[in-house]
Amino acid sequence: MAFNVAVDGPAGAGKSTVAKAVAAKRNFIYVDTGAMYRAMALYFLRQGTDPKDEAAITAGCREVAVTLGYEGGAQQVYLNGENVTGQIRTEEVGMMASQTSAYGPVREKLTQLQKELARTSDVIMDGRDIGTCVLPQADVKVYLTASVSVRAKRRYQELLEKGAACSLAEIEKEIEERDYRDMHREHSPLKQAEDAYYLDSSDMTLEQVVNAIIELIDGKRGAVR
Ligand code: C5P
Repeated sequence: MAFNVAVDGPAGAGKSTVAKAVAAKRNFIYVDTGAMYRAMALYFLRQGTDPKDEAAITAGCREVAVTLGYEGGAQQVYLNGENVTGQIRTEEVGMMASQTSAYGPVREKLTQLQKELARTSDVIMDGRDIGTCVLPQADVKVYLTASVSVRAKRRYQELLEKGAACSLAEIEKEIEERDYRDMHREHSPLKQAEDAYYLDSSDMTLEQVVNAIIELIDGKRGAVR
C-alpha cells in the first residue's frame, strides 16, 4: 500500500520547502497541490474571468485540464498541455487562486487527481485540505504554521531574491487576507485535522522542521512493519 503524508497550513509557512526536503530524504513523490489551484487561477486570469462570477468559473472548469509531470524529480504543472510552472508563482496568481479555489467545481476537479496520485504512489502532499478532505486516511498528518510576521518576512525575502519589487507591509496584508479566505470558505476550509501533528516553525530552522517530520514518518513506518 502507498504511504501518504499530508502537510497543511497557511500561506508562507514553508510547506513546500519542507515537503520537498522530506520527499528527497525518504524517496516520496512531492505533490504541490497549491500549484494546481494556481494553474487554474492562471487560466481564469488569462480569460479575464471575474472571480466572483460562479457560473463562469464553473463553466471554465469544463474547459480546463490541469495535469502534473516530473522533470528531474521536480514537479511540473500543465494547463491544457502547456507547462506553466514558471508562471504561477506571482502574488497576483496566488490571490486569484485563493478566490477561485473556494468553488466546489474547482475543488472537485483537482482533488480527484490528487487522490489518484496518492493511491498509486508514496507521496508527501501539501496544501490546505489534504489531511481533512483529500487524504483523511493519510499515514502521517502535519499542520505546519508560523506567525504572520515570520511568514511575511520569508515571502518578502523570497521575492527580493527573485528581483521582484515588493513591500513587506503589503505582503503581510495579502497573507492575512489569504489566510482569512482560506479558513472561512464553505468548501474544505483550512483547518488542522484532529489527528494532525501541530508544528509552529516560527522559531525553528528548516532542518529542525524536516527532522521532526522524518521522525514522525519513521515512527509510523516502524510501527507498521
Ligand atoms: O499553497 P499556495 O500558496 O501555492 O496555494 C495557493 C492558493 O490555492 C491558496 O491560497 C489556497 O486558496 C488554494 N489551495 C487550496 N487547497 C489546497 C492548496 C491550495 O485551496 N490544497
